[in-house]
Amino acid sequence: MTRLGVLGWPVSHSRSPAMHNAALAALGLHDWRYQRLPVPPALFAETAGALGAAGFLGANVTIPHKHAALALATDASTAAREIGAANTLTFAADGTIAAENTDAPGLIAALERLPAPPPAHPRVLVLGAGGSARAAVWALRESGASDVAVWNRTPERAQALARDLGARAAIRAEDADLLVNCTSVGLQTGSGVQPSASDDEALNQLGLTFDQVGNYAYVVDLVYRPTPTPLIAAATAHGASAVDGLEVLVAQGALSLELWTGRKAPLEVMRRAAREQQPPEQ
Ligand code: NAP
Repeated sequence: MTRLGVLGWPVSHSRSPAMHNAALAALGLHDWRYQRLPVPPALFAETAGALGAAGFLGANVTIPHKHAALALATDASTAAREIGAANTLTFAADGTIAAENTDAPGLIAALERLPAPPPAHPRVLVLGAGGSARAAVWALRESGASDVAVWNRTPERAQALARDLGARAAIRAEDADLLVNCTSVGLQTGSGVQPSASDDEALNQLGLTFDQVGNYAYVVDLVYRPTPTPLIAAATAHGASAVDGLEVLVAQGALSLELWTGRKAPLEVMRRAAREQQPPEQ
């Protein structure tokens, strides 16, 4: 049995097990399993460090462990080091642990799924200054964006991120070609937004009004949920070209799977499994 999994705390909501197990089955890798690995922060290093010896080939890493995953690795890619976070670990037989960040190239791959392609060198506004914003800013700068501005509820964090990664902090939600939401606003439960917040309130938390969303021809929302997020709903209503968080999830997961298996990921199978409603498992 070859084991894979997703390390997080909490991780019960993750669509990754359904998505990866469907992909493994489609690839004929019947003795491979991908499972949830709920691990609290205090136990992350010792648990993740023991996975290789326990038969795991690799693991995705989600909130709140992406920084700790980079620290644990014996070998990290340039992307993971420059972003300061890893979402993919690979455990070798000799005990080494490789760290990669597929969130960054996953975002760029998801942009290719926009119904209309954005300009080659877009002006971008990234909302948020957490881990996923760091990956997005790094990826967009690397892929040739002509300007990357960062707006965040807590401006000091946007300033620090911009300094670290060669972007520009914005004091308000400026106009741009492409808008990328990397905040947790729009999640229906959990941290970040009141479950009762109306769509307008959620947009306001992003520094936007419904009308202002019409200023962006291309919109990506990293947040995913069964129904369109307030941002995706507003962007679609304005006729923008929009991609939701599930498409980004599929894109980063496909890149991780290709690292572990050396096989081309069955994107359509993964997309279908990620979009299916899963009953809660644990
Ligand atoms: P994080 O490091 O915790 O950062 C959260 C960000 O959201 C911060 O910038 C925070 O602002 C902002 N925020 C939270 N609540 C807010 C509110 N009520 N109003 C305005 N801003 C608020 O999280 P992350 O790892 O970057 O993830 C962010 C979101 O992206 C999560 O929903 C995550 O599930 C999603 N994500 C999706 C994918 C995917 O594959 N689709 C991949 C990665 C992440 P402050 O700095 O002011 O606190």
